[in-house]
Amino acid sequence: MRVLLIEDDDLIGCGIEAGLRQASFTVDWARDGHKASLALDTTSYALVVLDLGLPRVSGMDVLKRLREAGNDVPVLVLTARGTVVDRVGGLEAGADDYLGKPFDLTELIARCRALLRRAQGRSVELIRYRELTVNPASQTVEVAGKRVSLTSREWAILIQLLTNQGIPQSRSRLEESLYGWQEEIESNAIEVHVSNLRKKLGAKLIRTVRNIGYVVEKP
Ligand code: CA
Repeated sequence: MRVLLIEDDDLIGCGIEAGLRQASFTVDWARDGHKASLALDTTSYALVVLDLGLPRVSGMDVLKRLREAGNDVPVLVLTARGTVVDRVGGLEAGADDYLGKPFDLTELIARCRALLRRAQGRSVELIRYRELTVNPASQTVEVAGKRVSLTSREWAILIQLLTNQGIPQSRSRLEESLYGWQEEIESNAIEVHVSNLRKKLGAKLIRTVRNIGYVVEKP
C-alpha cells in the first residue's frame, strides 16, 4: 500500500520512511506542502502522514485543500505543537488521527494500521477470506492454517486485492500501489506476481478480468 509522507525534517522523515518501508508500505516522501498537494492531486494513496509545520504551504492548508477536493484518504497528523487547540484544529480540518512529537515509531506504525483498518471497515486486524487468514501487522498469510511466505510485492498485491473485494484492480492501479517515486516499474511484473500468488495461495483466488486487470471476488 502506498503512503504519502509529508515532513520537512530530514531526520524525522528518514526514520518514518524507514519504519513504513519496514512495515511493507510503499512510501513517497514530500518535503514541503506544495509538493505534497501536487502528489495528492495525481496519485491515489492508502494513507497520508502529515506534519503540520511545513515550508511553502502549511500542513493545515494541505489538509483543508485535500478535504475540499473531496479526497477522503485517511490522514495521520504529526506535530510538535501539542496543544489542545492545535489538535482540535487538525481534527476539525479533517485529520483522522493525531500524534504529537516526539513519538515512538512503533506507535506511529500501529496508528497507521488502525487508520487503514478503519478505512477498510474492519475492526480487527485479521483479514479472513475463505481458507485464507491474512495478518497485516505480522505480514503473514495462512492457507487452511498453513503458513505461506510471500515477497513484499506479492504481499502488496494481495492486500490491494483483498481490501477491494469485488472491485477489479487495473494493472496500473496495482503498479501505483507497488512503486514509489524513486522506483522503476518493471514490465510484466504484475503478471508474474499474480501467477506466483496463484501458485502459493490457490489458482482460484485471483480472477483475471479481461482487458482490465484482476479481482478477488466477494465471498
Ligand atoms: Ca516540520
